[in-house]
Amino acid sequence: MTLQLYNTAKRRKEVFVPRDPQNVGMYVCGPTVYDTAHIGNARPAVVFDVLANLLRLMYGEEHVTYVRNITDVEDKIIEAAEQNGETIEELTTRTTQAYHEDMGALGVGLPNREPRATQHIGGMIEMITTLINKGHAYEAEGHVLFDVQSMPDYGKLSGRNREELIEGARVEVAPFKKDPADFVLWKPSPGDMMGWDSPWGKGRPGWHIECSVMSKAELGEAFDIHGGGRDLVFPHHENEVAQSCCANEDKTYARYWVHNGFLTVEGKKMSKSLGNFFTVRDLLDKASKLEKCAGEIYRFVLLNTDYRQPLNWTEEGVQNAENSLNTLYTALQKLEGIDAELSANPDTVIAHLQNDIDTPFALKELIAIAKKANTAENDDEKAVLKGQLVNGAALLGVLQQPLDDWFKGAVEDGLQAENIEALIQERIDAKNNKNYARADEIRDSLKEQGVILEDGPGGTSWKRA
Ligand code: AMP
Ligand code: ZN
Repeated sequence: MTLQLYNTAKRRKEVFVPRDPQNVGMYVCGPTVYDTAHIGNARPAVVFDVLANLLRLMYGEEHVTYVRNITDVEDKIIEAAEQNGETIEELTTRTTQAYHEDMGALGVGLPNREPRATQHIGGMIEMITTLINKGHAYEAEGHVLFDVQSMPDYGKLSGRNREELIEGARVEVAPFKKDPADFVLWKPSPGDMMGWDSPWGKGRPGWHIECSVMSKAELGEAFDIHGGGRDLVFPHHENEVAQSCCANEDKTYARYWVHNGFLTVEGKKMSKSLGNFFTVRDLLDKASKLEKCAGEIYRFVLLNTDYRQPLNWTEEGVQNAENSLNTLYTALQKLEGIDAELSANPDTVIAHLQNDIDTPFALKELIAIAKKANTAENDDEKAVLKGQLVNGAALLGVLQQPLDDWFKGAVEDGLQAENIEALIQERIDAKNNKNYARADEIRDSLKEQGVILEDGPGGTSWKRA
């Protein structure tokens, strides 16, 4: 069983070999807590939750440390607190709690460690001092800047040339910079702005130094996997590499860089700045049906597209996810009374996850197991298939709701999913027997009860009107 991961640093898929299988470390950039999370922000949380589950399965729960930080000092936070008339602490406490609730609704577990930037200011001052002492950073007008010219490999992670680096840095004109691509490690906090005493006066850290310091504090100078959304490759991760490799004794830093693609709306990245976003909370609130299970439906949508590809958020995608989950829950319901063989290995699901976290195919395999269970004849076979279903679903973080919660929503809304599936099967049988009148009758009767059938190449799917 080997795991393959697409490594952004190498621009290819590689076999994952941990530095020490007894001590596997993964660091993922977490939220900047100034506002509630949108569903795009949830994509990395869900994807890396699945990767953490897989690593725990492969190396043992106690041998994996998954770290996801909270960025609780950043200019957007200072601005938002001012606008809302809240203290920074009130804002970051409130939004961190909302983040945990929203991710929890999507079935995302807490990481093993969740460092907050404000707890690591001392470490940041220390690393910045080391960078200055080693000739990689300089002080100018209360700022400390990283000197990109001092690092020949700068730009290697993102594969940018010098022009692109300058263009991408999108920095405000700052006459005190030696090079336009130099970036801020420390900046002054005038007046009563949030800040800490430092050798360079009262100030606050730049965003990039926060992750270099928190990852080192939790995982050491070198660790296995560093993850985040694709937008973080440059400048955030490029700058983390620069800081850590120049300050640390060990020049490795992260060995595998894993980045998820964007969640998009009409082809554009969902983002706060474009205003084309909906928050996880909004989505949960508007889901009247299957209320308690809505988060799992959204999780399924997020996992139903390859993590590196763009994911366009549509109503149709949500409906497909609900239908697929319904197939899974219906199979599980049919297996009630069967004791799952919990040592059963969902090897087809695992194989896809080990192929660069191929969650869409892993979900398809889970559905294949469910369908096999539907037609299984003896209890031993059913017990094994139930074990595979339960174990495979746990890895993906789906099928985690009580059966009653899943089916209750459907009953309140009319026909139970189970009856609908049975009628669809009856319609297929009728068509096969050329009894088209009966087939049409079933379609029409379902329609009257608010269920629309759609025939497609993959069979018949249904949705509620
Ligand atoms: P932020 O709170 O903006 O720092 O973002 C938190 C995480 O969400 C980062 O890993 C981002 O890369 C990721 N992210 C932000 N927008 C999107 C999006 N539209 N699709 C996927 N990931 C995103
Ligand atoms: Zn980060």
